[in-house]
Amino acid sequence: MHPFELTILGSSSATPASNRNPTAQLLNVDGRFFLIDCGEGTQMQLRRYKIKFQRIDHILISHLHGDHYLGLVGLLQSMHLLGREKELHLYCPKELKEIIDIQNKYSATKLTYSIIYHFTNGETSELLFEDNKLTIHTIILNHRIPCTGFIFREKPGDRKISIEKLEQYEVSIAEIHKLKKGLNGLDNHGKEISNELLTSPPPPTRSYAYCSETCYFEEIIDQIKEVDLLYHEATFLNNMLERAKMTFHSTALQAATIAKKAEVKRLLLGHFSARYPDLDGHLAEAREIFNNTLLAIEGEKISI
Ligand SMILES: [Zn+2]
Repeated sequence: MHPFELTILGSSSATPASNRNPTAQLLNVDGRFFLIDCGEGTQMQLRRYKIKFQRIDHILISHLHGDHYLGLVGLLQSMHLLGREKELHLYCPKELKEIIDIQNKYSATKLTYSIIYHFTNGETSELLFEDNKLTIHTIILNHRIPCTGFIFREKPGDRKISIEKLEQYEVSIAEIHKLKKGLNGLDNHGKEISNELLTSPPPPTRSYAYCSETCYFEEIIDQIKEVDLLYHEATFLNNMLERAKMTFHSTALQAATIAKKAEVKRLLLGHFSARYPDLDGHLAEAREIFNNTLLAIEGEKISI
C-alpha cells in the first residue's frame, strides 16, 4: 500500500519546552506532503528530519495563536530564497494573508512563487481539498478564537483485476476499465460475467483527523467517527480541569473520552503544556479510558 504517514515535528503548547517544539506535523499521502500547522522553528525541524521544503505544496493552519503559525513566515521566506517556482496552497483563516503581506511589504520581498489562499471559516465544516485520491474537510473546534481541525480521507481505490480470472472466463482486456470501477464485464461470447468473479476489493481507505486546540467538545464526534487515527490536543492532565476549561483546552482524559465515544481506532495525544517535563501521566490517564493511545513525540513517524 502507498504511504499514508504522519511525522511529528512539534507537540508543545504555547511556550516551547525543552525537547519539544510548538505544533507542526507533516502528512505524506502517497508522496504528496501536507504540512499541518507551522509553529516557530518548523523549518529547523523539517531540516532535522530531512524533509525537503519544496516537496510541500499544501500548508494548513488551524488558527492564529502563535504556537500554530509563527514558523510560517520563515518557511515561506526560505522557500523563496531557495528559488521555489511552484505554487503553494495555503489553507488558513483569512487574516493570515494580511500578516504575510505585511512581512513581505516591509522586507520588500516579492516571492518567487505564488501563494494560492483557501480561506477557512470557523463556523461551518467545508471541503478544503479534493483530488482523485483524497478529500480534506475542516472540523469546527471550540477554542478562544476561531479554530478548525482537518480531516483527511482517502477515496476508495479501483478494484483489483485478476488476469488469471479474465483468461478463465474469456473476458477481454478491453473490459478492464469497467471492471476496475465495479461494473460487470462481458466475455468473448457476449455473456455478462459478474464483477466479483474477476476482481478483488480495493485496499481499505484510511483517515486521519487532526484536532489542534479545543475544549471538550462532543459536537466533533459524528464527523470523526471511526477514523483510523485521531490527533486530539491534551494540554493538561485532568487535575487541571478548571484551567483547561478556562483556556479552552482539553485534558488527556477528555481527549480519550472523545476517542472512545467516536470509536476511533487510535488516539494520538499532543499539544502538551511546558509544565510537564515527562508525559507518562498523559499516557496513563488516557489509557484508563482508551487503551490504544500514543503520544506525539517529535521525529516519530506514524503509519496510518
Ligand atoms: Zn490556541
